[in-house]
Amino acid sequence: MNTSTTLSSSPQITIGDQAMTPQPLAHTTEPAASSTPSAISLRPRPRLGLGATLIGEEEKALVLDVLQRQALNRYQGGTMAAQLEEEFREVIGTRFALAVTSGTVALEVALAALGIGPGDEVIITAWGWVACFTAVVRLGALPVLAEIDDTFCLAPGEITRLANERTKAVAIVHYQGVAAAMQPLLDEAAAVGIKVIEDCAQSLGVLYHGQRVGSMGDIGTYSLQHSKTLTSGEGGMVVMNDPILYERAVRMHDLGLLRPYHEKLVERQVPAFSGSQFRMNELTAAVALAQLRKLDRLREHCRNLQQIVMSSIRDLPGLAFRHIPDPQGDTGFEVYLQLPTPAIAEAFRTRLDALNVNCHQTTGTYCHYAREYCQTGLAHTSTASPFTQFPQWPAPGYRQEDFPRTEALIHRFVALPLSALYTEEDAHYIGACIRHVHSQVMA
Ligand SMILES: *Cc1c(COP(=O)(O)O)cnc(C)c1O
Repeated sequence: MNTSTTLSSSPQITIGDQAMTPQPLAHTTEPAASSTPSAISLRPRPRLGLGATLIGEEEKALVLDVLQRQALNRYQGGTMAAQLEEEFREVIGTRFALAVTSGTVALEVALAALGIGPGDEVIITAWGWVACFTAVVRLGALPVLAEIDDTFCLAPGEITRLANERTKAVAIVHYQGVAAAMQPLLDEAAAVGIKVIEDCAQSLGVLYHGQRVGSMGDIGTYSLQHSKTLTSGEGGMVVMNDPILYERAVRMHDLGLLRPYHEKLVERQVPAFSGSQFRMNELTAAVALAQLRKLDRLREHCRNLQQIVMSSIRDLPGLAFRHIPDPQGDTGFEVYLQLPTPAIAEAFRTRLDALNVNCHQTTGTYCHYAREYCQTGLAHTSTASPFTQFPQWPAPGYRQEDFPRTEALIHRFVALPLSALYTEEDAHYIGACIRHVHSQVMA
């Protein structure tokens, strides 16, 4: 596949041009189609996907190189993981980057590097991906759930509200291509004296006032799983500036060892401890490296599509949008509409879907308290669960009624994922469809 043509934009087609010739849509859920101001000519549903859809000759060449050299392990003749780490830290702007096997493991390595374990508390958002919860539990620490705000990320004020003497860190997720409100969050974390983990699994390459996410806290984590911005099927990265955190992360991911490769980068300061084995293999690293070199192109492409969609819907009354703390920095692969009620959001979704507009969340993010792993509160053995300290379970802080702000947001949004394969024409069509549905649902 020629990836350069995949990302090139097709000629801009404006609403009302030939491609949009009036041809009223047979819309069964539409009682008054004749009263709609504009007619929409149905386009085929475009294919979703980010980095995974750009896999092509570059990835093949690097994978073949690994196979030809028969060097599948980074410590046995490999070069790809080291090269990936070097280019990754250049992109993110941190002193160190460490390749690991997944984004979940990246979180576990980050928590371990920070020395977090039983008796410690880690603040995470109530609305999140399962791994953010399980990683904390796996390390034996207590995940403490916080509210989100209209950024769909951690709400400023929550760190201050939830921190106590046992709180060691906050894990801030930069949700779906947008940086959280980092400055207030960093200030709060500093004020209460806790460490900051930036979970960038959904936001590789995103900027916050000129700085890449992952480079602002104490430690940053990334995922290279198939549905993320860039992918090697599975994979993860951990970044940091502090050499002691780096050495601890290296030891955690490699059986407690510090091998000659890493000794060249950092002076040995940490005594050996029992780590796990989360090393990235060279085939994975080869794919990830080829993908990383496509990051800027992907980002520009998605931002351009987002601008087209946003400029055609920004003026619509009654619609609110996701608050983006730094509008220059986001990657723009998902537009969020906030509707006045869940019923109106559902009506939008049904009608947009009928127009072949993809309008569902592309990430498995939900409220931990609504999921089985949280409702049972179990770990692999009962003694390993951090929740046994509570006389009753679910305890306050782990129930739906404890999160009014989050609950008020999450049932009335419509996510509009954009893709590496969408054209400008697709973006114009999405904008026209939203206007059309708005005129039907909110008139
Ligand atoms: C995907 C994801 C992870 C975990 O990454 P995996 O590579 O799937 O293990 C962690 N945090 C967030 C926010 C994610 O979206």
